[in-house]
Amino acid sequence: MKSDVIIIGGGPTGSSLATFLVREGLDVLILEKTKFPREHVGESMLPYCYHLFEELGVLEKMKAQFTRKPGVTFSNPDGSQASHWCFDKVMEGPASLSFHARRAEFDQMMLDHARSEGVRVQEETQVVDVDLHAPDGGVEVRALFQSQKELTFSGRFVVDASGQDCFLTKKIGNQQRFENLNIRLALSAHWHGSNLTPSLANGNITVVHCGGEKLGWIWMIPLKDDRLSIGLAINMDYAQAQRKELMKEHGARGWQTALYLQEIHDAPLVHDILKNATMCWDVVSNGDFSYYAREKFGPNHAILGDAAAFLDPIFSSGIYLGLHSAKTIAPGIVQRLKQQDDSLLRTGYDSLNRGYQVVEELISAFYDPSAIHFPELSGSADHAFQQMKSSYTVYHMLLAGDFFNQSERYLQVIRALKDPAMIEKYKHLKGHAAPEDELRLCMIQSELM
Ligand SMILES: Cc1cc2nc3c(=O)[nH]c(=O)nc-3n(C[C@H](O)[C@H](O)[C@H](O)COP(=O)(O)OP(=O)(O)OC[C@H]3O[C@@H](n4cnc5c(N)ncnc54)[C@H](O)[C@@H]3O)c2cc1C
Repeated sequence: MKSDVIIIGGGPTGSSLATFLVREGLDVLILEKTKFPREHVGESMLPYCYHLFEELGVLEKMKAQFTRKPGVTFSNPDGSQASHWCFDKVMEGPASLSFHARRAEFDQMMLDHARSEGVRVQEETQVVDVDLHAPDGGVEVRALFQSQKELTFSGRFVVDASGQDCFLTKKIGNQQRFENLNIRLALSAHWHGSNLTPSLANGNITVVHCGGEKLGWIWMIPLKDDRLSIGLAINMDYAQAQRKELMKEHGARGWQTALYLQEIHDAPLVHDILKNATMCWDVVSNGDFSYYAREKFGPNHAILGDAAAFLDPIFSSGIYLGLHSAKTIAPGIVQRLKQQDDSLLRTGYDSLNRGYQVVEELISAFYDPSAIHFPELSGSADHAFQQMKSSYTVYHMLLAGDFFNQSERYLQVIRALKDPAMIEKYKHLKGHAAPEDELRLCMIQSELM
């Protein structure tokens, strides 16, 4: 049977795109190499996901299954300087309360939902080749079922949503690095029995800035069932230098865990949180990220989500970027298939590229040693900071995920973070943070739930 659209990968990008497409009357097949549920890194979501969940029809499931996230806390390693950024300061209504989710459960829920909308899903089916020039003008996709049985699928259009595997991007030889962003290594695990700070207990993701040659940070994400996700993202050069030393004692298999434990305990704030905690997951590593595909679509293919581009995860943007891309590109695929017209695909990708540029610049400002650091700024825009209110509002909006609406204006503000004259102007705003007061403003408001 020939599908209208074959999607490679059943992660959040693939499953949400499939749902949008099947609602337009297209026959959609997802090929997913693993058997769900499968674990995945990336558990904290931006509030801009909220309305997309509503539109996809999964909002009530999100509320029933996952913990809520009212904001972001940036801290220095010992917790003496911290800023709290509460989404309800810039967003009205229930969307300001976002979510944290264990990905095995979230991705399964999204894929099941796509199935319930009429999408055909074939798990344990790894795509191994794609012919974009099949004789009938469509595509032919070759796959291996359970690593053994060869299968062939034909379709009119294929979408690569294979995440960091970047299946089609690599096949076409289309991958490019973001010049501004360093190569990094991420190591992460889950913990039970942590001694949560008020901000974590409240649901804020906490980002600890490691600074120096590490050019790194630690995330702490409070999940349900007394689980705290803690991850470390550090500069690859620093990680490699440490590796040489740690290999001597811990060997090829143990050095990553040793590095992870060394670095998270090096931050006194994290060390205190973990005093009575036990690690309940083997350390997972993700490396060498930050790339994009030069060409993201053609006459019968498109590339979306992490397969199209991946930016450093410091601002927890990945899932939102994937969902938003699915929503933006779905009408383009429909138009392409129904009218042989590419115009919506072109304008959709132009808009996505501008939003990704905003995220890229925000990330490079975060790592720039000469730029203002988030932990030093107050996340509050109270009366003492009226003159800078609009800038704070912009940062809040960016932390919430507003990448696509006012890209040019936001780019100007982000560049100001790195401009020495502007830094001088901001100096008097540093050190004004009043963590307890601000935290009160970041509390989960029960009426929003
Ligand atoms: C260290 C780190 C921390 C992160 N933290 C966050 C965070 O806090 N918040 C956030 O929003 N994002 C975060 N992200 C990013 C987030 O995980 C991704 O952006 C998100 O998972 C992208 O979804 P996707 O559907 O595009 O890809 P994926 O979720 O990776 O899904 C791709 C799917 O394709 C399947 N697949 C791959 N190859 C094939 C093939 N050949 N055939 C068939 N199937 C295939 C895979 O099995 C997978 O299920 C983080 C990423 C990293 C690396």
